[in-house]
Amino acid sequence: MAGLRMTRKISTGDIFDRVQGTVMDMMFPPRCPVCDEIVGPMEKYIHHECRRQLLPIEQPVCMRCGKSVPSEQQEYCEDCGKAMEHHRLYREKDSIKQGKAVFAYRDSIKQTMYRFKYSNRREYSAFFAQMAVDKYAAWIRSCGIDVIIPVPMYRGKKKARGYNQAECFAKELSKRTGIPMAKGLVRRVKNTQPLKTLGYAERKNSLNGAFQVMDSIVQYYHILIVDDIYTTGSTIESIGREIAKHCDSQVYSLCVCIGQGS
Ligand SMILES: [Zn+2]
Ligand SMILES: [Zn+2]
Repeated sequence: MAGLRMTRKISTGDIFDRVQGTVMDMMFPPRCPVCDEIVGPMEKYIHHECRRQLLPIEQPVCMRCGKSVPSEQQEYCEDCGKAMEHHRLYREKDSIKQGKAVFAYRDSIKQTMYRFKYSNRREYSAFFAQMAVDKYAAWIRSCGIDVIIPVPMYRGKKKARGYNQAECFAKELSKRTGIPMAKGLVRRVKNTQPLKTLGYAERKNSLNGAFQVMDSIVQYYHILIVDDIYTTGSTIESIGREIAKHCDSQVYSLCVCIGQGS
């Protein structure tokens, strides 16, 4: 198992990264994920008062996807309930073991995520990854995660936008945990339309053949798929299904934000 290395020996590469980071911070000072104004050197990542506006995910949560649920008595959210019902009906194995998320996708973070995705605010990923590690380091360790895979973006889309925000988050997560990130193992080979308004079976069909998994995935046993926003879970589930065609590795998910469960 690739354990979490919270304290590491400092290599020349690390020093180079730090110097480069400092120079970049001087030239392009990092912006606060909430208000998008510059964050001074005394405040790391985010203004103190802005931090209060974010809504971290609190218990009780869905045991499958990590969404907040209304009561302790409710084990799964409605979306997971539907997915599990579908699996039972068609005698399919669930492709996702468990998922977690850092913030509730509500209020001001919606604008934050929009800028992260479309306005080149890649620097937010350092804050997101730090929050994810603060909250879930023990969980990541207990799952024995040996690789981090970002949800891939369709090639043409990535080219047009210049970056994949899930990959930025994965990279920062990898830096903080010492767990390698592998971005070429899963590819998006079909450009899909937004899936929110579709039912479970339609979403599943629409994502059929959207992802391609490389054979070398077999070297990993506990895979963490990461993304910016988790809504119904069909994207990650679809990746899990492709992975299951190659090996019996356990697939977990960790996302920056997650919708509200019901
Ligand atoms: Zn702020
Ligand atoms: Zn759920």
